[in-house]
Amino acid sequence: MTGRAILNPSIFVWELLRTIMRVAIGLVLIMLMGTLPLALAQSEPREIQTWPGEPIDSHVHMTWAAMTMEVNGWADDYPEIVDLMSAGESELGRALWVVRLSDWSLDTKEDGSPKEIVYIDGGHHGNEYLGTALAWLSAKWYINGWAEGNEEAITVLKNTEVHVLIMLNPDGNDIDTRWNINQVDLNRNYDHYWNTCPTTQPGSSAFSESETMYNSMYMNEYVTDADLYVTMHTGVWIMLYPWGKWAHQPADWELFWQIREDVNANISSIPIQNANQGLYPNCGTSRDYGYGVMGFPTFTFETDDEQFIPGSFENLNDRLEEEMDVMRYLINNVWYWRARLDVRALDVSSDSVTLDVVNYGQASTSNATLQHVSSNGEIVWTSDAFTVNATNSTVIKLDLGELSIDGDGTWQMYYQKRVINASTWVTESINASVIETSMNQKSEGLFGYGLFNPVTVIASVVGLAAILRPEEEDIELTSREDAHDN
Ligand SMILES: [Zn+2]
Repeated sequence: MTGRAILNPSIFVWELLRTIMRVAIGLVLIMLMGTLPLALAQSEPREIQTWPGEPIDSHVHMTWAAMTMEVNGWADDYPEIVDLMSAGESELGRALWVVRLSDWSLDTKEDGSPKEIVYIDGGHHGNEYLGTALAWLSAKWYINGWAEGNEEAITVLKNTEVHVLIMLNPDGNDIDTRWNINQVDLNRNYDHYWNTCPTTQPGSSAFSESETMYNSMYMNEYVTDADLYVTMHTGVWIMLYPWGKWAHQPADWELFWQIREDVNANISSIPIQNANQGLYPNCGTSRDYGYGVMGFPTFTFETDDEQFIPGSFENLNDRLEEEMDVMRYLINNVWYWRARLDVRALDVSSDSVTLDVVNYGQASTSNATLQHVSSNGEIVWTSDAFTVNATNSTVIKLDLGELSIDGDGTWQMYYQKRVINASTWVTESINASVIETSMNQKSEGLFGYGLFNPVTVIASVVGLAAILRPEEEDIELTSREDAHDN
């Protein structure tokens, strides 16, 4: 997975330009990362002003050209962790660069399990520099950390793939406009209840624009198994979880509420709300698509609207430190953003099985089944579906029906990572060491397993999550005047 996949021929033009401009770019970059002494920075005003672009209105652009040179520089300098590719092209043919970060010398985690996957994009709206900068910094933080031997960055890159599409709307970015070149609001152009809310400029149809089409193709082809998707914007300082379309809470409300509790208690007081209530009803957004169609736990991360003041060149690390603390928390803990079932015991009798299963994840699963696989690999029995709530456990007796156990078969769990219909299904085999077979006993005798443990009794009420789900509530819309973005 190392090296680059370049889909856009026009990038070779930039290879030529890079030779000339790289030194100047590098100098300014170093200053922005806060490592260049102030005196030197002041002695190089010309380079500072040529990157990342000219001041426009009240902020400074990172141009697509500057970004292109930079991400290619990352790939050249750190091939062991940077795998650069283009997800496709903008309407005007500019590459949609995805910086894919991981320790590519390792195919899996140390224990052989697949790495966690995180997807980040920025720059849907071309005049939201700071949100795009947060996507840029989310990649740069791990590259810097890796280079400096930072333990957190190294651990993340050994266990995680972080995919960052920094600038989704390069055409709009370079002319400093919210829209893409066709005057479409890309964050209303996704195929999830497209154009079913009062909205402006959603495009002629869902995915009418190449930027959104290629973004969805990337999601469907490369990060289908992601357990976190963060899409970055500028507007009101807020994090928004689904839905934008509806005022009611999403199926995985527990997960979003737990993250809010952790972030607000330990990291930042940033408001974290359902998008519909936190901003205003919106539909066809990448956030609702990411959750409703892809099944990702999804946040819109909005930086505040105080973008860079011309000439100030505030250190980006300092400017976005709190936002990066939140991102680091979300990425460090990505393992928890799904259901994580672990079978502690499986007692098999002649007519039933009794299952003791714990969910270490922060998301519930409502369609879990136990399956028996025969020695020739065929699934010969699937239990009724049951629920295992987030950070909880359950003991459940399942009727084997007509199944006769041949002794050589295996058992596996088949379940969805989250409650939302779109979430990925996983199949996980059950370790033989937890399986006990007592074929000669009546199952009634076995069902005593765990019954007298008050914790498991309480936890075993299947369907508790459904009962606990909050009623739909119509909270009065707030911040609508300020919330010019989403
Ligand atoms: Zn935006």
